[in-house]
Parts: sequence; C-alpha cells; structure tokens
Amino acid sequence: MSNQLTHYIGGKRVAGTSGRTAAVFNPATGAQSGTVDLASKSEVRAAVESAAAVRTEWANTTPLRRARILNKFLGILEDRSEELAAAITAEHGKVLSDALGEVTRGIEVVEFATGAPQLLKGEFTENVGTKVDSHSVRQPLGIVAGITPFNFPAMVPMWMFPVALACGNCFILKPSERDPSASLLMAEWLTEAGLPDGVFNVVQGDKEAVDALLFDADVTAISFVGSTPIAKYIYETATAQGKRCQALGGAKNHMIIMPDADMDQAVDALMGAAYGSAGERCMAISVAVPVGKETADTLIEKLVPRINELHVAPGTDPAAEMGPLVTAMHRDKVVGYIDKGVKEGAKLVVDGRGINLQGYEDGYFVGGTLFDDVTPDMSIYKEEIFGPVLSVVRTDDFETAADLVDSHEYGNGTAIFTRDGDTAREFAARTQTGMVGINVPIPVPMAFHSFGGWKASLFGDHHMHGPEGVRFYTKLKTITSRWPTGIRKGAEFVMPTMK
Ligand code: NAD
Repeated sequence: MSNQLTHYIGGKRVAGTSGRTAAVFNPATGAQSGTVDLASKSEVRAAVESAAAVRTEWANTTPLRRARILNKFLGILEDRSEELAAAITAEHGKVLSDALGEVTRGIEVVEFATGAPQLLKGEFTENVGTKVDSHSVRQPLGIVAGITPFNFPAMVPMWMFPVALACGNCFILKPSERDPSASLLMAEWLTEAGLPDGVFNVVQGDKEAVDALLFDADVTAISFVGSTPIAKYIYETATAQGKRCQALGGAKNHMIIMPDADMDQAVDALMGAAYGSAGERCMAISVAVPVGKETADTLIEKLVPRINELHVAPGTDPAAEMGPLVTAMHRDKVVGYIDKGVKEGAKLVVDGRGINLQGYEDGYFVGGTLFDDVTPDMSIYKEEIFGPVLSVVRTDDFETAADLVDSHEYGNGTAIFTRDGDTAREFAARTQTGMVGINVPIPVPMAFHSFGGWKASLFGDHHMHGPEGVRFYTKLKTITSRWPTGIRKGAEFVMPTMK
C-alpha cells in the first residue's frame, strides 16, 4: 500500500517510527486505500517540542499578522475546497456535495478567526479609582490540542484550530484514524499560507497518542469531539491533569412534529436530517416525535415512499443522496441495532439491511431504515446508532413530546415543526438542549455563534468556535494601574477600596 498517511510536525510530513499503523479504507468499495501511522508517546512529544520552540514567538506575533496568515489560508481553502471534499469522500464515504458543505462550514470558522484583532480587543475603564485605570486583556494558553471524530474530518478540526491560532496558541491535531487525509492537506495549506513551522502539527494515532497529549504537561488545553464515553474520559483525565477541557459527545436528536405543521416541509426536513451523510452526523435527527395519531399516520405515509426512493450510491456519484457507512465494523453495528429494534418489538416499516449495489458489493452500505411504534425503553431509542435509522415515537400531546426530549440522556440538538409561535417559543424556552431549531431540522449555529450541546453531549464549560471559542482559547488578565501623581503616601493595611 503506497499511500502512507504520516504525521505533520515542524512544517512537514514526518513518517511514523512507532511501527504501529492502521489501514484506511474506501467505504464505497471496501478496498484499502492507505495506511495511517499511529504515533507513540515520543512522537507526540516531538510535536509538542516543535510547538514549544515557537510558542512564545507566535503568542507575540500581532493579532493582525496572525489574521493575515489565516486570511491567506482562507483563500487557499476556497480555491481547493473540491480537492479537500474529494479527500473526505474517499475515506469517509459521504456524498461529494455534502463533503463540500462540510468544507464550507469549516471555511466560515476561518473567516470568523480572521477577525482576531477585533475578537481579542480588551476592555478599559478610566478612573476605577482616582487616577487609577483598569484594563483587561485575553492572552493565549500556549500549546493546545484537538482530538476529533471521523464524521467531519475537515469541519470539526476547523471548529477548533482557526480560533486557537488566531488567539495566539500553537495547535496539535489528533484526527480520527479512519479518515486522516484531510488533516494533512489542511496542515500543508497552513504552511503555504505562511504559518511558521511548529505552530500547527498533526499527530495521527489512537488511544496511545490521545493519552500522550492528555498527560503532557506542556499541553494546556484539550478540545475534543467524539462519542460520549470517550468525551467523559477525556474531560475527567484532562481536568485531573489541570488542563482546560471542552469535550463534546454523542447525540440523539428529536424532532417534534405538531399537528399544525406543514407536513410536506416536515417530511423534506426529516429526509435530509435523518438520512443525510447516512445519519453519521451529531446533529442528525434520529427520533421523530409526531403529536397525535393523525400526524403520525400522515408522517409515516409520506416518509415511506421517500425512503424507498433514496438514491444510495458511492459518494462520488453525482446523483447519490446517501453514501456508505464509514467502516465495515460500523456497518455491522448499525445492522445490529436494526436487528435489536425488531427483537424489542418496534415496527420495522422500511428495512435498509441487505442492500446490494452492483459493482460495490463490498462497500459498507445500509439503506434508509424506518421504525414506527418505538418506545422509550428500547435500546434503539436510548442509544446513539449513528446510522440511517429513524425511530418514530408517537405521543398524544405537546407536553409528553417535550418531556420525552428532556428525559433523554443526550441534549445536543432538537427541532420542532409547527405553525404556532406560542408552542415554538415555549419549547425553545424549556428544552434542556443546547441547540434548538424551529422549523429548522439541523440548527447548527453559524461560525460567529457557538456550537455545543447540553447534558451528556458536552462536558466542560465552553461551546466551540464563535465567542465561546475565543473565551476557551484565552486567559483573561485584568491590569489595574496607577501612575506617580496618583500615588498617595503611606502603607495601607486594609482591603484596598477605591477612593
Ligand atoms: P470516537 O469517540 O470513537 O473517536 C473520537 C476520537 O477519539 C478519535 O480521534 C479517536 O481516535 C479517539 N479515541 C477513540 N477511542 C479512544 C479511547 N479509548 N481513548 C482515547 N481516545 C480515543 O468517535 P467517532 O466514532 O470518531 O465519531 C462519532 C461520534 O462523535 C458520535 O458519537 C458523534 O455523535 C460524535 N460527534 C459529536 C459531535 C458534537 O458536536 N457533539 C460532533 C461530531 C461527532
């Protein structure tokens, strides 16, 4: 296998030396497309040292200069977004237009980060006391790391590093070992844009690399996105090491459909939100909650033909609406959940198992799947499946539907479809969920807002990118100053109060 996916340290690709590697596959064909190096502790240390050598210089580079480098990177990304999207589709499997959409959402964070001089402006108060002034500044943390999932190999790293770099930090990215190519392209383009060597490094790897970052004393903060058990582990370990940490976890997003909703609009929205990217999105809708029997019956009746018509094909097929799942193991897990749903007594209305695409028999495809009569005690309801499987839980009224959303372990995103402003407002106000859509199925905040869930979907205090990203990647310092004419004579032994 000639396609070796290496680390990126000190401004260049660096082959692994640990002797450990993992295979990377094309999910549409099942063929191995490359081999990714898995970093050892000492290789992670080399990346940290490369960052440590330039950390002070980068922190002292003016925000305007940092922004200009990011601006060049932005131009490169725009020019080569199709190349990046193709690399994503080749290893992740999602359809090309969707991969391009992911790149666009990442580009938006870079655009936001080019506002570094504005974002890092402090506050100043003249005369907090007589001839005493006070100002606050936000300073970088030093070396920070990002550990990212397979499902957005470009966008999720870009939720993190543009803001971290704009704030004056060095960044070490540990991407998913399933689709590592995007990280290397972005690293090369940052170098091409003029980022000094060592400011941005990539270490490929698995738990060994992650643990090396968690226990490295020079790494001051960890941003993580992935499944909830790992997010919890990362958060607990990082904070026990005294590091700042934001760890975003899994999801089970509900969409409530009220009887007064525009049903065609709701069905269109559900199709994209449940089956787009084969359900491998943390903001995918995996539970539909129709209110009232008539709403539920109409929903099922309208969904079934649409699901049966879904164009499932390799992501490179321009007509494809849904590609394969990321690995054979993940495909088997999703199929296992469908088997379980049947055993648990849910009504399987559309079965996506056993799909066979001519010429792609070894690809990891599962067709769109729909369960009706799902109940909250079933594992297909409680657990994140992360595949093209939509569960319908029928409810009698809004209260029961809203309670259902709130009782779930996860609280990443949710949506309500209704024409009634009161109901929508009430739902948005009470729901224990981080991101809410009103007649919007996937309410992913724009780059200048911040992204994050509640409950088991996020461990930590800060959401990602936007203003929350700036707060996460900087430390606040407040300076109080008095010049000689303001100095009064004599020592004071009481708590200073301003006069
Ligand atoms: P994952 O948790 O398996 O892996 C995420 C990262 O953690 C990867 O870089 C992986 O190498 C590393 N990792 C895996 N096992 C580890 C271990 N035992 N110790 C240390 N590190 C480990 O997640 P995934 O399968 O790559 O991604 C899918 C998950 O990510 C889903 O649960 C999805 O909901 C979640 N996700 C959440 C968001 C969000 O914003 N909340 C966004 C995207 C994805």
